Amino acid sequence: MIPGSFDYHRPQTVAEAVSLLASLGDEARALAGGHSLIPMMKLRLAAPEHLVDLSRIADLKGVREEGGEIVVGAMTTQAALLADPLIAQRLPLIPETSALIADPQIRYRGTLGGNVANGDPGNDMPAVMMALDATYVLVGQSGERRVPARAFYEGAYFTAAEPGELLVAVRIPTPPAGHGAAYEKLKRKVGDYATAAAAVILTMNGATVETVAIGLTNVSETPLLAEDAMAILAGSRLEPEVVDRAVEAAKAITNPASDGRGPAEYRTEMAGIMLRRALARAAARARG
Ligand SMILES: Cc1cc2nc3c(=O)[nH]c(=O)nc-3n(C[C@H](O)[C@H](O)[C@H](O)COP(=O)(O)OP(=O)(O)OC[C@H]3O[C@@H](n4cnc5c(N)ncnc54)[C@H](O)[C@@H]3O)c2cc1C
Repeated sequence: MIPGSFDYHRPQTVAEAVSLLASLGDEARALAGGHSLIPMMKLRLAAPEHLVDLSRIADLKGVREEGGEIVVGAMTTQAALLADPLIAQRLPLIPETSALIADPQIRYRGTLGGNVANGDPGNDMPAVMMALDATYVLVGQSGERRVPARAFYEGAYFTAAEPGELLVAVRIPTPPAGHGAAYEKLKRKVGDYATAAAAVILTMNGATVETVAIGLTNVSETPLLAEDAMAILAGSRLEPEVVDRAVEAAKAITNPASDGRGPAEYRTEMAGIMLRRALARAAARARG
């Protein structure tokens, strides 16, 4: 289908974009890579009267290290994340996830900011950002504020961003050297959203799990942080019965829809299997 008509704006700075969004009000939307927004407009599920294209704002692109954190500009594409040497070295979980998102054409346009600001439970990066304990930097008319990814997602397409606020960057604490991480995603075919997926990041002291974080994708209205499962695994030696208990605790917080990706019971079961696989791979990587 063809989208409804809209006016197109292309600001050069964050200040200009924020002021445009404020003056145009509820009928304006930020446009990043357009690979969620434009399909929604074509289906007439969204009909913004104004699009504020962020693609010319140089400050929103790129990856840098700052005060023990990796800072990723909101307009950094999945393809750029896949090619970035700093990300590859410090945060290998991110390119592992980017490579499982959609297809190369979409990864060349789709941005990290669009992926995490969208609020679609099918997006892969939000659960990863929750597992990494990232912080979102938002800028609006009243200035800048920071919101932890773990507090950002309120419901399907509902987030803690206020109307007119722009996500400008994602700040990610650098995990310690020797950490292990993995993202496991079950999908029906290449380019599909997850039936269920799990992100795990952990550190080990010998055979004992020192720290562990788990994010789950597309098994509820929002991405999930599996806190009970994390508490069960921390301090354990990943004994099979402990892993079983943690997997059951993670499955207990899921609430997937029954849809084309399968009935709810199946998707919950798959979330458990993705978690088992991600945990095993992350632990193997941490052991070196
Ligand atoms: C066929 C297909 C398959 C896909 N498969 C997957 C998949 O497997 N996994 C996955 O994660 N994604 C998938 N996607 C979605 C894709 O990753 C999108 O690129 C992503 O969801 C949105 O990023 P974007 O840059 O395209 O944002 P846009 O589509 O431009 O924007 C998405 C939303 O976020 C808002 N927004 C964007 N940037 C900002 C910002 N800086 N500040 C505030 N609000 C902002 C927009 O206003 C809009 O509401 C798929 C898309 C398609 C078409």
